[in-house]
Amino acid sequence: MKKSELAIKYCKFCLKSFNWRKKWKRDWDNIIFCSKRCKREWKSKSHPIDSSLKLVSS
Ligand SMILES: [Zn+2]
Repeated sequence: MKKSELAIKYCKFCLKSFNWRKKWKRDWDNIIFCSKRCKREWKSKSHPIDSSLKLVSS
């Protein structure tokens, strides 16, 4: 297997593709964001789906 054929994922926040990295070796399965920044942004913002659910219920 070539290095270029290592796993690729798509960031849940910015939707960009990113490659497997050595530092993620242990928890690659849990990586869903391309960077800490995306993870933080995702957590800090309310998500469209969540807010629409709130609107419906209220
Ligand atoms: Zn990202």
